Amino acid sequence: MNDTSDAFRLVQNRPYVSVVIPVYNEEGNLQELYTRLKQALDMMNKPYEIIFTNDGSKDKSIQILKRLAADDPSMVVIDLSRNFGQHAAVYAAFTRSQGEIVVTLDADLQNPPEEIPKLVHKIEEGFETVGGVRGERNDSMVRKGLSYMLNRVASRVVGVTVKDYGCMLRAYRRSLVDDMLQYEDLSVFIPALAASIANNAAEVIVDHSARTKGKSKYNFMKLLSLNFDLLTGFSLLPIQMLTVLGVLTSLCGILFGFFLLVRRLFVGPEVEGAFTLFAVLFVFVGLLFLALGMIGEYIGRIYLEVRHRPRFIIRRIYSKEQRA
Ligand code: UDP
Ligand code: MG
Repeated sequence: MNDTSDAFRLVQNRPYVSVVIPVYNEEGNLQELYTRLKQALDMMNKPYEIIFTNDGSKDKSIQILKRLAADDPSMVVIDLSRNFGQHAAVYAAFTRSQGEIVVTLDADLQNPPEEIPKLVHKIEEGFETVGGVRGERNDSMVRKGLSYMLNRVASRVVGVTVKDYGCMLRAYRRSLVDDMLQYEDLSVFIPALAASIANNAAEVIVDHSARTKGKSKYNFMKLLSLNFDLLTGFSLLPIQMLTVLGVLTSLCGILFGFFLLVRRLFVGPEVEGAFTLFAVLFVFVGLLFLALGMIGEYIGRIYLEVRHRPRFIIRRIYSKEQRA
């Protein structure tokens, strides 16, 4: 193969592209995903492997995946012992991946598999990681709005401007995946970690469809926790903002006290002052709760880390050719 540079050797019996897909209750999407993915990959004419991680699905996902893997030597299915979350599931697949280029993809067909060659070509141009940017995003307004804000904050926090951290249609060079595997954080937000260690990153616009089968696996709490992964994983920004907020409120309190003093001297004591104090009190109590919650979040995360639990537990691996 002379069209591949030194960095992209085609090693005998080793896939060139690994496609990594986390699956959590996606029984309605898997067959179509598989068919479209195979078609897109076959057209690239390079050896590939497809690694599905079943992240503790409670529906028929694992049965469907096992059936597909039984006839397809390019497919590997990692069955996790329970639901560990999307990013842990991707990590599990990373550990098994062998390709020179590793592509992550959602199972719900919101990211069209037909876009994979675009990402692969971009990596071949010399970038270490390529992120998809959802051009026309088919999600709810609230999520789009929150995502916009989060991307801006995350870009500041990570120190690398990325337009769309949330898009999981991304490609990574083998060396970058190996680097990422050295990080042992329990909850890590993969696109942000990649951006923080890659030397050169690119973004390409990709299509985005609405989910047709199944529901989004992220409810409010799960989304909150994921975004905390992103923010606390890379900085102390939330807790630092809290300090700033504390200082500002104290300043306001002092100014207000000063105002009441002056008013007492010139106008005399106010009778209903008690109510003003209540208002002030509520503000402070609210801030205290916020502060406690924020500190609790960090301490909770420290607790999770120091227990040294595994990021994921593999129950079984299904693949046609048994590899070491
Ligand atoms: N997913 C997973 N484990 C989870 C949640 C999600 O493996 O705990 C998978 C899910 O099956 C899908 C991908 O991660 O392939 C993205 O999830 P989803 O489409 O629900 O997220 P959204 O598009 O709403 O951000
Ligand atoms: Mg989705």
